[in-house]
Amino acid sequence: MSATAVVPAWLTGETAALVAAARAGRLPHALLIHEAPGAGGDWLAHFAARLALCERPLEAPCGGCLACRRVLAWQHPDLMRIAPLEDSRQIRIEQVRDLSADLALTSHAGGYKVGILTPADSLNRFAANALLKTLEEPPARTLLVLVASQPSRLPATVLSRCQRLTVRAPTRAQAVAWLTALRGSGDWEGALATVGEAPMLLADADPAPLAQIGAETRQALDALAAGQTDPLATAERWARGDLALRLRCIENWLTERIRRSRPGGDLMPEVRAGPYLPGGAPFLNIRELFGLLDEVRELRSALDVPLNRALALEALLRRLAPRGTGVAA
Ligand SMILES: [Zn+2]
Repeated sequence: MSATAVVPAWLTGETAALVAAARAGRLPHALLIHEAPGAGGDWLAHFAARLALCERPLEAPCGGCLACRRVLAWQHPDLMRIAPLEDSRQIRIEQVRDLSADLALTSHAGGYKVGILTPADSLNRFAANALLKTLEEPPARTLLVLVASQPSRLPATVLSRCQRLTVRAPTRAQAVAWLTALRGSGDWEGALATVGEAPMLLADADPAPLAQIGAETRQALDALAAGQTDPLATAERWARGDLALRLRCIENWLTERIRRSRPGGDLMPEVRAGPYLPGGAPFLNIRELFGLLDEVRELRSALDVPLNRALALEALLRRLAPRGTGVAA
């Protein structure tokens, strides 16, 4: 089954709002979908395109008309999608100019023209300015959909021209249900524990190895925090593999620790003065956990910059190890 056909249960409010707007003839010219990463922003953008282009307005998106079938195959002449080109992390001005020129032409089917920009927070400054011109004077029956997980990176002038829809991360149960409907049974629970609540990232993935990497990473982090393993060897091994995925696991592990250390959770580290918790578990205070979380995120966003990955990762892992233990010298 295609990912488009399985409606994510956590998006039914947003799809209903779009359908109501379309039936009332009030689809906005520009929509900004602010998504939690991997939570379905692109899915919703594609839904909006089907809605605008479907040939049966009262049932749109019907899924059966020629327009819907073309949109499903990304082959509709009135649908354009721009994303960073290969080898680039940015959407460039030429791409936006091409899109704007195309939107200014009459639609092939006599209806809407739809442009999807994803991730829109990768528009560079020049490209965002070029887009602004189209946003300020959109041709009639145009729908621009910007998908972004960090809309604050976009100029306020662009944001103010867009109607905003928010896509929150699903619950674990919703994400597992969607992946199971799409792909059949598998260790989705374990794979989601590795990548976080980002089911769209798993639509084409094999869950078993991902689940295994997550379990192995959590085990190693527990051992590091207990001073039972060497940060250097671990950092070198992880830096050679899929570091982005490891960093995601570390981020999830830290987030879980922070969650548990809130009042009412398992730990209350700031109240406890000793270096170890009663169960002998290692001690990290909540400020350190937040500091580490920031560093992990920084390292993740700097992955495309030349840097000594193993060294940066080792420094980070060393801070997990309890002070004064042999391996964390
Ligand atoms: Zn249709």
